Amino acid sequence: MADNIDLDQFLERLRSRNPGEAEFHQAVAEVVHDILPVINASPRLQQASILDRLIEPERVIGFRIVWEDDKRNVRVNRGYRVQFNSAIGPYKGGLRFHPTVNPSILKFLAFEQTFKNALTGLPMGGGKGGSDFDPRECSDGEIMRFCNSFMLQLHRHIRSDTDVPAGDINVGEREIGYLFGAYRRITNEFQPVLTGKGLSFGGSQMRTEATGYGLLYFVREMLATQGKSIDGMRVVVSGAGNVATHAVEKAVDMGARVVTLSDSRGFILDEAGLNRDKLNWVRQHKEKPGTTLEPYTEEFGARWFAGKQPWHVDCDVALPCATQNELDEEAARALAANGCTVIAEGANMPVTHAARAFIDSAGLLYGPGKASNAGGVAVSGLEISQNRVRRSHTRHEVDEDLQSIMKSIHGACVEHGTGDDGRVNYARGANVAGFRKVAHAMLGQGYG
Ligand code: GLU
Repeated sequence: MADNIDLDQFLERLRSRNPGEAEFHQAVAEVVHDILPVINASPRLQQASILDRLIEPERVIGFRIVWEDDKRNVRVNRGYRVQFNSAIGPYKGGLRFHPTVNPSILKFLAFEQTFKNALTGLPMGGGKGGSDFDPRECSDGEIMRFCNSFMLQLHRHIRSDTDVPAGDINVGEREIGYLFGAYRRITNEFQPVLTGKGLSFGGSQMRTEATGYGLLYFVREMLATQGKSIDGMRVVVSGAGNVATHAVEKAVDMGARVVTLSDSRGFILDEAGLNRDKLNWVRQHKEKPGTTLEPYTEEFGARWFAGKQPWHVDCDVALPCATQNELDEEAARALAANGCTVIAEGANMPVTHAARAFIDSAGLLYGPGKASNAGGVAVSGLEISQNRVRRSHTRHEVDEDLQSIMKSIHGACVEHGTGDDGRVNYARGANVAGFRKVAHAMLGQGYG
């Protein structure tokens, strides 16, 4: 019989085998903490070295991207695709264009994606990719040329039955369109090899809204377990991209007052509350290269806090929707002290390890991203099935499916995360439920 795995020894070995990859260590540590009791209780899982197999990506691809800017300078960036786990379906996960992109960030994201995708109940493995390219100051032409060059490399590694990327930070419908066009021209095939496409070439209704809307459907379920509703609650949101703006939109539709949005330069506090008109202004304003949210304050009479995050603003619910590790322990303590009782992640791993520990000890409701932000990839999964049968579902049909998927993810968290005291640890529930599905598929398929 195999020996029990010791958490500290395991993490020590993880760090020495993946030096300098702090975000990857953090993501693995959080999952392993929750699934180790399940593994240590199962000689079969131990004998199969399931944990060592689970933390090793099946493939990590890196490539050079050469493109030309508007001044005709030749520019060089790094591109990656991490194909983490394909036990339950083709690799699936977004592409991120941001200067912080590196192998550690993509390995953490692809690892998380493996569990998230399993939770959706759809047949999708885990992957993630992207580039250290920074599109924020770039013209439309520069972004298109970059996407062409990126796909010139990536097309060798993706296929509709192998790996189907989508968007992530700074990769939205426009970039997916350029990437899809490049794939089609390079291969001469019109294949559903990307999701998040435009509606006129195979995209799904509701894909753009899905992550933000799904987050609110998940929060609705969390609050319902306590007999509460978000109607009338005060909500703080970070970020101002696709996830944040659609989270705000749905929260406002549900009767909440949302008072903040943020970007890398600061945040706006709008005591009157955001609404659809203000969100439309934000979306249009952000289309211009190199802008910040600051002019919002003149437009709508709100306040701007330069260089600050919104976590000191009093609220009932906080929704971090910007990026990893944006909410630290000090921020979590400030939120709790100011009355916040629910923190749900729209971004991937926005809450630091220390903040997580505090949130658990303080007894706040905490929705981990791999459950609460799974709506985006869930609708990507629905886009794939629509493409396969060459049929488009209506907005209403997709929204109904999204709501029922978020409800079932919430149900899985409750099933696997409810403690003896009746409290739901959503992170443990999500980790254990996702792990069970992936591990079962890996065991069933042997190795070699
Ligand atoms: N990037 C999104 C995520 O973090 C969506 C991925 C996809 O649709 O494949 O889940």
